[in-house]
Amino acid sequence: MRVVWLWAVLAGLLAALTGPSAAADSLARRGRELMREHPEIWTGAVILRGERSLIVAARRPGLPARITLPDVAARPGAEARFARPAAAGEASGDGTAVVDDVSGTGGAAAFGGSGGGSPVPAGSAGSGVPGGEGDSRSRDLADLARRADRASLVAGRLLGPVRPVILVPATTEQAATLSAPASVTGLAAVAAVDSVIVEPAAFARLSAAGRDVVLTHEITHIAAGAALDGRTPKWLVEGFADYVGYRDSGIPVARAAAELAEEVRAGRLPRELPGPGDFAAGSPRLAQAYEEAWLACRYVAERYGERALVALYRAARGGDLSAALSRTLGTGPAGFTAAWRAYVQDRLR
Ligand SMILES: [Zn+2]
Repeated sequence: MRVVWLWAVLAGLLAALTGPSAAADSLARRGRELMREHPEIWTGAVILRGERSLIVAARRPGLPARITLPDVAARPGAEARFARPAAAGEASGDGTAVVDDVSGTGGAAAFGGSGGGSPVPAGSAGSGVPGGEGDSRSRDLADLARRADRASLVAGRLLGPVRPVILVPATTEQAATLSAPASVTGLAAVAAVDSVIVEPAAFARLSAAGRDVVLTHEITHIAAGAALDGRTPKWLVEGFADYVGYRDSGIPVARAAAELAEEVRAGRLPRELPGPGDFAAGSPRLAQAYEEAWLACRYVAERYGERALVALYRAARGGDLSAALSRTLGTGPAGFTAAWRAYVQDRLR
């Protein structure tokens, strides 16, 4: 009897500690820690609490002293307010590891970046997330919170709950400071351990669909622990994030993989899965590397199911891809590469 009672108390305590409000508190705490690392950027910042995410947006000149966010603030738990100026000299040391990412000239042409030939239509005028002021900026940040919530839900369904902090600096220079030592040049966003850093100028140029793809891609990196993972093959890390990113986008394959489709139609089918160097900034086939990786993961999900794709991702964390392929898909690197090439040929010809 006593044991049962004790268990009930413990279970209740556990629920209280891990329930939605505890998760929201820990997200707010994490947001404050990140802000303290850069008081020069975040003093006077706007904080917006979504249901699964926290938006921290740097104050911009011309912003009113207090903003209202009717459609977000009306929800329980949501809030919009100016943060107290963050205290200097209290920086915590973590959260600096950064994965990639989405380049406006390479792999991210598919996201409606500044590069030519974007397969995703450009966003409607005035809907840029960081661009507006006053009411339009309030709407933009509320829109960002909704997209980040939705992206967290999608990534969380595959990998377990994820609650990211979305950092929206005011300028490209600030984004570079936050992402250092990784470069943010030409990128729309990068993922750190538990936060997404938005490059405001590039992100503002994305279409609505492109914003969802980018946010879901980056939040998938967070859910997968990619910033702390140096062993999983790069193609699997990026392909998996793009698989989740494009999963519900409705963007046709040939459009999302436009650069690779052009090569395939010209009779140039890739021979090998892309290596780490193919994802480096300035790589001549950066867009194609992302597209090849995406289609490899899409192939796994179609042929074996999403659970198998997640199992492959987790198994490959050990660093032995061959063993991971064998254990989760019952095939080896050569057989997998051949099947992936046939899939690419079939989908893009
Ligand atoms: Zn990525």
